[in-house]
Amino acid sequence: MENDEKIKLLQKLIQIDTVNGNEKDEASYIKRVLEDHHISCELVPFAPNRTNLIAEVGDEKEPVLALSGHLDTVAAGDFQKWTYPPFAGQLVDGKIYGRGAVDMKSGLAAMVGALIELQEADLLKHGKVRLIATVDEEVGGKGSLELTNQGYVHDVDAMIIGEATTGQIEYAHCGSFDYIVESYGKLAHSSQPELGANAVTNLVKFINKESRAFDDAAVSPTLGKLIHSVTVFHGGDQLNSIPDFAYLKGNVRTIPECDNVATQKRLQGIIDELNKEPKIQLKLKVAASFMPVVTNKQDRFIALAQTAIKKVNGRQPDVVISHGATDASRYVLDNHKFPIIEYGPGIEKLSHQIDEHIALDDYLTAQQAYVEIAKQYLNNTKYDEQASS
Ligand SMILES: [Zn+2]
Repeated sequence: MENDEKIKLLQKLIQIDTVNGNEKDEASYIKRVLEDHHISCELVPFAPNRTNLIAEVGDEKEPVLALSGHLDTVAAGDFQKWTYPPFAGQLVDGKIYGRGAVDMKSGLAAMVGALIELQEADLLKHGKVRLIATVDEEVGGKGSLELTNQGYVHDVDAMIIGEATTGQIEYAHCGSFDYIVESYGKLAHSSQPELGANAVTNLVKFINKESRAFDDAAVSPTLGKLIHSVTVFHGGDQLNSIPDFAYLKGNVRTIPECDNVATQKRLQGIIDELNKEPKIQLKLKVAASFMPVVTNKQDRFIALAQTAIKKVNGRQPDVVISHGATDASRYVLDNHKFPIIEYGPGIEKLSHQIDEHIALDDYLTAQQAYVEIAKQYLNNTKYDEQASS
């Protein structure tokens, strides 16, 4: 695949508007490109006009290296503020501009290009590389959740998530647990509060307990302390009435030592305790739950990726933790563990911004890095050792 074709691929991906909820055209386009290069693909429908995509190169069953990227983007915002139109994929001074240039159509295009190169140059001796392109990452991560439930990562031995990492390898991130607590009371005139049940003051009791709820949670040696906050509070609408309803929202940045299940249990415990008091009726609802992801920093896959990337661009990438949740939060729900790293083209802080753009060098380097990682991972495995012994 020539550089011209790689550039055109990325431009085309940007030109297909996949602001969340509209990924089918993009998946179909990628399928056509891969099939033109004799790579078999499967579209895995998710909802009307939305489809995940799976593609594979290599033939032996194992090992399986997965490359994962999402098809959707966040909205472009005010078009007038963009120097170049957000869905044009314009190339200016060695940079391609547009929504998703960084997050993460360049990562996805680099993965597609890597598959094509591995196939065309017949670079794999063992195993296979599986591309997993998902819907819905920016909103709910439901694409990767469904693929996980359908078994598409069950045989995976190692995975790269192609989100922008500013040249680094990221090996861990916190999870996220979003919840709502509703408080049900009873209306009464404020001159006779004893006739009612005050939903607001009852909910405040939850807040007071929440502030200490994780004091004894273990600290993660990788991610540090769990972080938790109540962020939204609404209650009452009449100054002289005892309020009969209030709700709050909260967020917990979870860690493996106190993961989403343990977090939910602690919050539910507070509520069960408070609900024993007369006139208190609180209810916990889970709004979103993304698991923390931690790969062992000593895992050989990380060292291998570092070596491979250095071979491509001459620089040994740092290995760091990251701060945003990814599709990895879903893949770790599979009941076997495998190393997952994030590595992809682009400067992270340009994600979701006006004038989001990617340097061509960065994009093309990432593609080469994926090829090199695949070669080193799949070709220098225990299977070689077994074969030669
Ligand atoms: Zn992303």
